Amino acid sequence: MTQERFDYAVIGGGLAGGWAVSGIRERDQSGSIVLFSAENDLPYDRPPLSKQLWKGDTTLDKIYVQPPEYYAQNHVVVKLGTRIAALDRREHRLRDESGGEYLYGKLLLATGGAPRRLPLPGGDLPGLCYYRTADDYRTLREAARAGRSALVIGGGFIGSEMAAALTIAGLRVTMLFPERYLVSRVFPESLGLALNAAYRAKGVEVVAEDAPTAIETAHGAYRVRTRAGRSLAADLVVVGIGIAPNVELARAAGLEVGNGIVVNERLQTSDPDIFAAGDNAFFPEATLGPRRIEHWDNAVSQGKHAGRNLAGAGQPFTDLPFFYSDLFEFGYEAVGDVDTRHETFADWQEENKTGVIYYLAHGRLRGAMMCNVWEKVEAARALIRAQRPVTAQQLQGAIA
Ligand code: NAP
Repeated sequence: MTQERFDYAVIGGGLAGGWAVSGIRERDQSGSIVLFSAENDLPYDRPPLSKQLWKGDTTLDKIYVQPPEYYAQNHVVVKLGTRIAALDRREHRLRDESGGEYLYGKLLLATGGAPRRLPLPGGDLPGLCYYRTADDYRTLREAARAGRSALVIGGGFIGSEMAAALTIAGLRVTMLFPERYLVSRVFPESLGLALNAAYRAKGVEVVAEDAPTAIETAHGAYRVRTRAGRSLAADLVVVGIGIAPNVELARAAGLEVGNGIVVNERLQTSDPDIFAAGDNAFFPEATLGPRRIEHWDNAVSQGKHAGRNLAGAGQPFTDLPFFYSDLFEFGYEAVGDVDTRHETFADWQEENKTGVIYYLAHGRLRGAMMCNVWEKVEAARALIRAQRPVTAQQLQGAIA
């Protein structure tokens, strides 16, 4: 069998993989590049899948990372619908599921993450939507006709955004999640409870502090039984209960893997010819410590950065990524460790939830969430990076 050879191989056609190609081309205009994606779409922006696409603010053909012609113009070979099944580091060789073999010079693992499945009877029923990809959007959009009912399982990022999106699209939405309030790992109690109330005011039936135990189908609809004895019926079920990083390829190849693929500050794995970036990369963040980040900005900036480093830049990754969300009229941008296990301090107007929530540990700022306040990400980054001893009083008015 012939083996195609490429100077650079990128496994994963998500945001990190898509942006890595541009990063490589910034430094090397002639080296050969191949991008493998298990999906059948060119790399696209993922946030619109649970936000703007449902409001009619954009369409799928407008969310590509690069326009479709970019790849041919920049001599990038794209292999869609191609899953790499094996990595032989000694031979610098990859094998896809159909037996195709490829040799690489430098390799990026931008393999992202896969939705966690519900570990319960009926958790694998056909048609259950573990929402993650453009294909999931197409399928759900087709089924999500106004007037139908949807049950959203999970109260995290996907759950909160999809419940809002489907309500905006005219569906009758029920949310089911185990915590007391929405996005409870990030939102302090007062904000989370206020959002529960805001969702209810929009017509969402919010079922908190309960969890699914079994899912059945009957007469073309679903019935979800819960721990508290409820029986919830819905035409559609959308699940967002977290993701697991795709690390199997790296592990099987003998790379160091912990909570993700372990990389150094240059995003290089324990094999100097192999890098990792995005949802799957466990990296040594300079201010806040080692972590893996599952958000859009991190995938974009690490992807680009890893691409440049594949092409020899050798630079440390020093960005402090942010993330954002839109939940009906409430929107926010957040930087750092916005984790409710830290001490939180809200510097805002309580009535309209406008202002900044600060997250502190041991008298130092770990994170900040700007609620209905925009263009303050840089200010938040600077405050977090300073790591000066600080009190809640001193933070009053510090950002917004
Ligand atoms: P997530 O934000 O981690 O939330 C998962 C939620 O599901 C948590 O509330 C979790 O509760 C709950 N859960 C776990 N097991 C459950 C079970 N068996 N039954 C019911 N609920 C259960 O993950 P996600 O919402 O699925 O999002 C997936 C990924 O997409 C994440 O990486 C996220 O960062 C990313 N994303 C980001 C954005 C954004 O940045 N705006 C938007 C969409 C998606 P516990 O906390 O108790 O485990």
